[in-house]
Amino acid sequence: MAPPGLASAAPASGSLTPGAAPAIPAGRRGDRAEHPGCGRANHPTNLEEVYKLCRDLGMRLSRQRRMVLDLLWAERSHLSARDIFEKLNNLGRNIGHTSVYQNLEALQSAGVIECLDRASGRLYGYRADPHSHLTCMDSGSITDLDVVLPPELLGQIEACTGYVIETYTLHLTGRRHS
Ligand SMILES: [Zn+2]
Repeated sequence: MAPPGLASAAPASGSLTPGAAPAIPAGRRGDRAEHPGCGRANHPTNLEEVYKLCRDLGMRLSRQRRMVLDLLWAERSHLSARDIFEKLNNLGRNIGHTSVYQNLEALQSAGVIECLDRASGRLYGYRADPHSHLTCMDSGSITDLDVVLPPELLGQIEACTGYVIETYTLHLTGRRHS
């Protein structure tokens, strides 16, 4: 029996919430977890919860580490280590470039923040739960999106591949309407 064709999947019948709060489930099958948007049972929705997550993970919350987390949650965008270093120093925070880089690496390897590998280098974001990205082809800006694919499409992908889909991340590119 031929596998069902992906091309016949109903397009755009999922829901899309630009700039949605991180508490909104996305990117994971809703019937498989109480908090389907996240690989963890509870992902942080504010800085206090991020601090608690770090403590629960046994990470020391140094002054520098809190500075980096505070900035990422205040900016809510995707920044390079250099961006973060420059923004913190412009705010009068005394932190070295090496400390910024080491804290970013520790936080991303612990799953507390996200890390995007781009041709121009690594970018760090405040959200660590599965979510999608829309990149502007003109400005290069990256917007977080919560895209929920239609269950029928996920079912077709599972039938075609023999895999059970646990999470997904879409990388979309486009230009603003002129
Ligand atoms: Zn992101």
